[in-house]
Amino acid sequence: MAIGLNVQQPETSCDDENCPFHGTLSVRGQTLEGTVASTDMEKTVVVEREYDVKVPKYDRYMKRRSRVPAHAPPCLDIEVGDTVTIAETRPLSKTKSHAVVSVEGGDE
Ligand SMILES: [Zn+2]
Repeated sequence: MAIGLNVQQPETSCDDENCPFHGTLSVRGQTLEGTVASTDMEKTVVVEREYDVKVPKYDRYMKRRSRVPAHAPPCLDIEVGDTVTIAETRPLSKTKSHAVVSVEGGDE
């Protein structure tokens, strides 16, 4: 099933209904890229994004981090340090409304 994003279909299949590829979950909106900071939770990863914020007063940039919990479907093999692409979905839990749609592997 195509999900309407320019990402690769996972090679493996799964029966997770919240999987954007094999379940009924639909993705929408923007996609974000980040680094996986934690895979401690079941079917959830924490994706960390670092971005620069301009501080006009000092005319300098400040590093900010944001952490986005995202659903990790079982068909994707995701490890800490991987670069992943996540897409917005309907709210999956109190804090989750994104799902991982692509894994690009780690930096190391
Ligand atoms: Zn799947």
